[in-house]
Amino acid sequence: MTDCIFCKIVAGDIPASLCYEDDHIIAFADIEPQAPVHKLIIPKQHIARLIDLTEQECAIVGRLQWVAAKLAKDMGFADSGFRTVMNCNDEGGQTVYHIHCHLLAGRQMQWPPG
Ligand code: 5GP
Ligand code: ZN
Repeated sequence: MTDCIFCKIVAGDIPASLCYEDDHIIAFADIEPQAPVHKLIIPKQHIARLIDLTEQECAIVGRLQWVAAKLAKDMGFADSGFRTVMNCNDEGGQTVYHIHCHLLAGRQMQWPPG
């Protein structure tokens, strides 16, 4: 997708502070962090919204969560805890239409979320 910010980050056309990469996934620091640690974990493949994910593609979201948990563990948050979030569409708070998992850590999270 030529007009997608996250596809441009995958392509290296927009700089980002990468903290993980494999054949299918990259992770990088959120430009507007909402916690001391705020990473975005995204598939290299462009999928606009969670509701666009097909059954055949569902392992991608499992991999997003697995990478998020791995990063949290590697950064020392396994015991203290962390949060992963995926927003979908306007009322869900989605602003970038390329699916991504937020990893938030380093402060007490509140419930319900805003
Ligand atoms: P959403 O609101 O769609 O769930 O999350 C999108 C996230 O992407 C936001 O937290 C926002 O700060 C982040 N973001 C938007 N544009 C950029 C960018 O160009 N670089 C990085 N690193 N993060 C971005
Ligand atoms: Zn994209």
